Amino acid sequence: MRPTKILAALALASAMLLSGCGGSSNDPQPSNNDPKPNVETAAAPPPTQPSTPVKGDLTIKMLNVGQGDAILIQTKKQNILIDTSDIDERDKLVAELDKTRIKKLDRVILTHPHADHIGGLERLIKDGKLNIKEIDDNGMTSGSKIYTNYMKAAKAAGISIGHLKDGDELDFGGGVKFKVYYPTAELINEGSQKGYKHDPNNESIVGRLTYKNFSMLFTGDAEKKVENELLNSVHKSELKSTIFKASHHGSKTSAGVDFMKMVAPEYVVISAGEPDIDGGNTYGHPHKAALNNYLKAGVAKSKIYWTYKNGTITITTDGKAWSVTPEVENNWLDAWLDK
Ligand SMILES: [Zn+2]
Repeated sequence: MRPTKILAALALASAMLLSGCGGSSNDPQPSNNDPKPNVETAAAPPPTQPSTPVKGDLTIKMLNVGQGDAILIQTKKQNILIDTSDIDERDKLVAELDKTRIKKLDRVILTHPHADHIGGLERLIKDGKLNIKEIDDNGMTSGSKIYTNYMKAAKAAGISIGHLKDGDELDFGGGVKFKVYYPTAELINEGSQKGYKHDPNNESIVGRLTYKNFSMLFTGDAEKKVENELLNSVHKSELKSTIFKASHHGSKTSAGVDFMKMVAPEYVVISAGEPDIDGGNTYGHPHKAALNNYLKAGVAKSKIYWTYKNGTITITTDGKAWSVTPEVENNWLDAWLDK
């Protein structure tokens, strides 16, 4: 077959695959009556992504919860939620979790006690729709009302609260593991001293999920300070990951080029809300400097997704192959870089 014919055949095959594309059989198909996802839509150029989601026993959803983080991990055995959106976005969190039809959360991991990470938890506990078995935080306390309220609710509901630190390894079931790289025991110890001045972003839980050949690095809001510590730690050689959860919502405070080159992900997924909204994403996330560093690390433009533009981002894998499927196809990156 001549190259042009091969290309034509590939295009045809990809068009056929695309027509059969659309979530897992558990997801209700959208009807015309469903509300539009809270994302900008644009005339979608031909997608360059694999158009049929890989059938896998591990699903990771970066939920479209506006400005904040909430990532649902579903293995064969367990459901794990990493962060719980912003307090102002908790209705979105509840709606997104309702869509998944899960009934239990085996573990909720709170990367750090900022409002845009722990904000939805009190509501989830008090709603009582989900059986929450355990909460794991980064071992740092906070005086904020959002923090004390969720702690009170968790205690009243009898949910056990644990702390994660460098060296911990969690079993998510079904062969999926999560190894914690940060914070260190020393930092947690310092943080427990009276008068310690906390730097919550740089106390975030950083951990790497692995499943056979697939891996994903979770970074909370860790900034370059933590990235540099990791580059000088025993974990340096373990940073390389299939998917990178953009640290700090794609802020320029994070994603230093040396760190990104070490992670060298195939995909980057960013959780950040509508730009320039008071009380929301006034930070200009994701920042051009961070985006450019993803590109410098070799990430293809078509493999960077942002919840505000792409809606909920669904990753499925059987550990050998993987697919990343946005709710909305939207190649926003070039226009965003040109702004
Ligand atoms: Zn944050």
